[in-house]
Amino acid sequence: MQTFLEEGWSSIAEVNTHAIRENLRWLRSRVDPGILQMAVIKADAYGHGAAEVGIRIQDDIDWIGVYQVREGAELRDSGISLPILVFGTPTAETARFYLEYNLVATVSRFEHFDVLLPGTAYHIKFDTGMGRVGFLPEDVTRVEREIHTQAHIRYTGLMTHFADSEVIGSEIFEVQKEHFSQIVEKLGEHVTVHASNSGATVHQQHVHYDLIRNGTSIYGFDPNGKSNASLTPALAWKSRLVQVRHLPKGAGVSYSHKWHMPTDGFVGIIPVGYADGINRNLSGKMVVEIGGKTYPQVGNITMDQIVVFLGSDDIQVGSEVVLLGGRGDTSAYRWADILGTITYEVTCMIGNRVKRVYI
Ligand SMILES: *Cc1c(COP(=O)(O)O)cnc(C)c1O
Repeated sequence: MQTFLEEGWSSIAEVNTHAIRENLRWLRSRVDPGILQMAVIKADAYGHGAAEVGIRIQDDIDWIGVYQVREGAELRDSGISLPILVFGTPTAETARFYLEYNLVATVSRFEHFDVLLPGTAYHIKFDTGMGRVGFLPEDVTRVEREIHTQAHIRYTGLMTHFADSEVIGSEIFEVQKEHFSQIVEKLGEHVTVHASNSGATVHQQHVHYDLIRNGTSIYGFDPNGKSNASLTPALAWKSRLVQVRHLPKGAGVSYSHKWHMPTDGFVGIIPVGYADGINRNLSGKMVVEIGGKTYPQVGNITMDQIVVFLGSDDIQVGSEVVLLGGRGDTSAYRWADILGTITYEVTCMIGNRVKRVYI
């Protein structure tokens, strides 16, 4: 633990791969046996480290999902041989990567049929109501014709993406589900059909088809923003106190003196800031955990350092500090609430100044 400081890092993100594997197992148990499972490890596995996570879970899953071709190529270079689906838009510039790295493309517009090189495998994506990318339900006949015309590329999958599958009883979801089932009737023969993201896997039934695509849930987060006892957050972000100082009552702390010492007492300095991924809007609103006790972060968060108020506790320099992780006030759910965002963004914010450690 001390070693990360010795190596010159300021903090570590401990990734518990056992927790990820348990989360994968629980998600799989929610759907019928035989349904395939894709781990979505785009965006560096939502901040957890794509290659490292991918290598450790490859025996537990059937597919990998990424967004960029570059992300897929990197995983191939790391020795991962599972099928990889690239969600991003194929272009003339990126077409060769699909063949070179054996990546499956996502076709969501007619021009993509012409961009892909002979032999490339692709899944067709329909926009059944997400309002982002994909063919519209009324395109289905033309898409079918195109699939047959373009015999030099390989049609192997059919997919859609849900806009609010984590909401039980959502009308948007029901409409999407209905649209997709009609498309599957026309184009779903002999290909891998899939729709369910984490929200649908955790909160919906009868939409899982041949494969589920699990992202945030494998890292332990319920997409509905509420802690889920069956999912264990895998990441704990830790640092150490590098200084403890005594300051007098009334002393202003950090840029612009947004906070003053309420009494004489101790403050602790932690060597992480917004450059590491502690969003500045958390200033004065987050807490850290030291020795099982929580302490408030005070004053403005700075680029490299934060200050915590220790009151009368003269804590030893070098003590471990939990910034993010576990449940309660240091959880990503809590950070997301404070920031008005979602847990997805909280873990994606953790930057490359933070050493990832796998346990
Ligand atoms: C990101 C993504 C997912 C995973 O979503 P989660 O909510 O994290 O499970 C699944 N499918 C597609 C197409 C995606 O872009």
